[in-house]
Amino acid sequence: MQNEVHLQSRSRLQDYELIVGRSCIEELRILAWELSGKVIQIVNSTFVGGGVAEILEHLIPLLNQLGVDARWDVIQGGEEFFEVTKKFHNALHGRREKILPEDFALFTEITERNLEELRFYGDIFFIHDPQPVALIAKKKEIGRNWVWRCHIDVSNPNRKVWEFLRGFVVNYDAAVFSAPNFAQKLPIRQFMVTPSIDPLSDKNRELDQGTIYSVLAKYGLTSDKPMIVQISRFDRLKDPLGVIEAFEMVRKGIDCQLVLAGGTATDDPESEQVLEEVRKRAEGNPDIHVLLVPPESDLEINALQQAATVIIQKSLKEGFGLTISEALWKGKPVVASAVGGIPLQIKNKFTGLLCYSVEGAAYDLKQLLSNPEYANWLGHNGREHVKQNFLITNQLKDYLLTFLAIGPLGKSSDIIYL
Ligand code: UDP
Repeated sequence: MQNEVHLQSRSRLQDYELIVGRSCIEELRILAWELSGKVIQIVNSTFVGGGVAEILEHLIPLLNQLGVDARWDVIQGGEEFFEVTKKFHNALHGRREKILPEDFALFTEITERNLEELRFYGDIFFIHDPQPVALIAKKKEIGRNWVWRCHIDVSNPNRKVWEFLRGFVVNYDAAVFSAPNFAQKLPIRQFMVTPSIDPLSDKNRELDQGTIYSVLAKYGLTSDKPMIVQISRFDRLKDPLGVIEAFEMVRKGIDCQLVLAGGTATDDPESEQVLEEVRKRAEGNPDIHVLLVPPESDLEINALQQAATVIIQKSLKEGFGLTISEALWKGKPVVASAVGGIPLQIKNKFTGLLCYSVEGAAYDLKQLLSNPEYANWLGHNGREHVKQNFLITNQLKDYLLTFLAIGPLGKSSDIIYL
């Protein structure tokens, strides 16, 4: 079965020293050494698309370079299964969804198939998000240590879906959430680990102007007017129609253009439909560019972010919101909704601007477009904030500590802030 991925190391560990300092890398090596001989089996539902795949793709090769035997598998689902898990995802974010008994039954059936087909070889299982959460059933048979990593804000979920998933979660040794206010009360240990970005990846490394211009040309864009950019999967929770509305308000007074760029994820069957809606809404306005970006287009995404005058992320709900750290690391001024993990990254009026409505977003965009000095200052502060808190080296350390902390230390329901 084609469900195990072999990743190439892209960046060398020592290359990070220049950014984060030598002592930080030494610290990682010491922690990793404590895990030698253990296999960490990481499982999620897709190799491409979305923030979780993005993080794993960069994290795993670095764990390997530190000498940790971390390997990545995905569960097999199929369209109907991912329709159900997408409904669960929305419902966990608090959106109204019609969840039928058949949905739970299908979830259980596909889980059982994965329980039969997946190879369980880890000493520590590191299971990401709700799709594979029920693999914990295997623990009865094989034991070992199990960690559930929840990337979603489940603080205000649909009770029916949460109660169903909670039945699996409580059997884990520990759960990891992205922020204290994303979590739920659970009888197992909880760790808080914020996601992170890789400053040396194609998505985030500095590009020369030639590369940026060639990407703009590829998508038929020019930099002759200020460019507002939102990078997101085509998902209603990213509110692309709200972005267009805000842009139209701004455009009345300032000559500028909007780029909505994103792809579709294999575990999100709804995205094609949303893309169509967005294209229709943008029709006839030559200043709005809706770009369908294929998977594995990290360099293109990077170039679009670097070409942006202002970056917007007008999500209605959000997990951590990796695109924010990506934008801030590039020193860009950002306007973003105060949802999910965004307020951890944007300290209002210091590392960016938080908005609460379409009108608010339009007001903030106008402010930044007409005051470049203020915009630059916010971008500069934003980059420092990311450097201190949201680079991959921070996350590596947090996960190593999590793996070391579970197991022999026993159970408690304390929340541990790493
Ligand atoms: N992304 C991408 N291509 C796209 C859309 C998004 O590579 O077409 C990336 C984006 O740069 C970020 C991640 O996918 O790294 C999205 O993570 P985020 O936490 O912002 O949102 P999610 O998609 O997980 O809800």
